[in-house]
Amino acid sequence: MNVADYISHRARAIDASGIRKVFDLAAQLKDPINLSIGLPDFDVPDAVKDAACDAIRRGDNRYTQTQGIAPLRNKVRERLTQELGREVGEIVITGGVSGGLLLALLATVNAGDEVIFPDPYFVAYKHLVTMTGGKPVIIDTYPDFRLRIERVAKAITPKSKILILNSPSNPTGVVMTEQEVGAAVELARKHNLLILSDEIYEPFLYDMPRGLPTPAKGYDRTVILRGFSKSHAMTGWRVGYAAGPEPIITEMIKLQQYTFVCAPAPFQYASMRAMDLPMHDAVAAYRRKRDIVCSRLSRKFEVVQPQGAFYCFPAAPRGTTASDFCAKAIEHNVLTIPGGVFSERDTHFRVSYATTDEKLAQGCEILCGLV
Ligand code: PMP
Repeated sequence: MNVADYISHRARAIDASGIRKVFDLAAQLKDPINLSIGLPDFDVPDAVKDAACDAIRRGDNRYTQTQGIAPLRNKVRERLTQELGREVGEIVITGGVSGGLLLALLATVNAGDEVIFPDPYFVAYKHLVTMTGGKPVIIDTYPDFRLRIERVAKAITPKSKILILNSPSNPTGVVMTEQEVGAAVELARKHNLLILSDEIYEPFLYDMPRGLPTPAKGYDRTVILRGFSKSHAMTGWRVGYAAGPEPIITEMIKLQQYTFVCAPAPFQYASMRAMDLPMHDAVAAYRRKRDIVCSRLSRKFEVVQPQGAFYCFPAAPRGTTASDFCAKAIEHNVLTIPGGVFSERDTHFRVSYATTDEKLAQGCEILCGLV
């Protein structure tokens, strides 16, 4: 038996080659204009770093309760109750939103259950659903990346169990409207679907003065997933949270006990400080970058204006696959990610505008020059 024969079917089912290829190519470039990064270009705010260091020095370095420290859970509860206008059932602090997604799917998906989500999608969804024994059911949203509920309705079967929504979206930056969320909730209610609402980019919202339309407002069978990776540039600190129906979160806590155990203790304390820090300036800077990238790229590309997150998802020039176009861009020192990584189609590419205005302008110039 070869060592490779030890590898499970579960692991074999995951193909991470698309994104790895981009990273391998990127590693060969000296000083690329990197528009492929999925995290903010600012560092963790000093006050949050201080709170983490204080916690470490104070000795808050041990396991916490599996569900997370009580003061952070209370703060999250208060914030969500105010925002949603209703009590949320239960809360668990997770190892980032990734941890929350895995636990939510482990807690709910049986073999063959269908989990519906829109295409383009965050890379992990498809693999997490497969890993937990479910069947991904993927709903195309091209060309404007708006979820048409009749397409979801057509895909419903007796096996449909979960609808994953991600607004603001990675990779398109599109934010669902109140009407779209309302239609999704109505369909979910009709077919008894659980909604997993990945709202990790909720703080990065540009044209929505009334805040993020979330299904959790009108539908209590929603598990909200949020975190601090993007909002406070804490991607390496691994803190997020899930809030939703008590029986589901209780199972997630049980599963966390035997897997992640708990989110990192000092960073849970630091997250409390993060929740008190307004990030208006960072968001305003990203709104400006969104405007730069859209106005420059729309000269040569079809671009849907994003209303949130820090990505846009232009179409590759006609007659070229996104993979070929991104490879060509890499030859010109610009890194973007081909849409096939996030989609069943290889027609678009993801541009992250979480970089300096200067790099962004240079990158857009080069990309336009390739058309
Ligand atoms: N959901 C989406 C839509 C994301 O873009 C990401 C990070 N790229 C995650 C979840 C995972 O984030 P975390 O660092 O909190 O695990």
